[in-house]
Amino acid sequence: MSNNPLNINIVGKELVDYSRHILPSGKEVYFLVYEITHTDAQGLCRTYKDRVTFPPLDGGIQPESPEDVRECSECEGLFTASQTVSCHDCGRILCMQDAALTEENEERIPLCPEHAAKRNNPIVRFFNSLFKA
Ligand SMILES: [Zn+2]
Ligand SMILES: [Zn+2]
Repeated sequence: MSNNPLNINIVGKELVDYSRHILPSGKEVYFLVYEITHTDAQGLCRTYKDRVTFPPLDGGIQPESPEDVRECSECEGLFTASQTVSCHDCGRILCMQDAALTEENEERIPLCPEHAAKRNNPIVRFFNSLFKA
């Protein structure tokens, strides 16, 4: 989980702050703030703060805040809000992999697998079509 993009010489790593966020499913996500001490090219000690999420989100993006974390109700993966949609019919949160996007009246409607199956059922489609202008 070390993050050393600058290829600097890290001499210390200390957890200086954390917060715990409990998702609706009961899963816990920690927001950790590490103070990284490193030496620069001149050999001087510098510090910077490195923010990481534990566990790291499956979507690979560092969330802005605990409120930005979403759990997919299908695969139980963790994502940021921008990487998820909610089912139009039941509101379940889904990652892009698990969401079915249905085209309706030129609008893309996100659906969970159950509701996508229901809407694609030919009998449901037929009766729904009767009410369309
Ligand atoms: Zn998913
Ligand atoms: Zn649904």
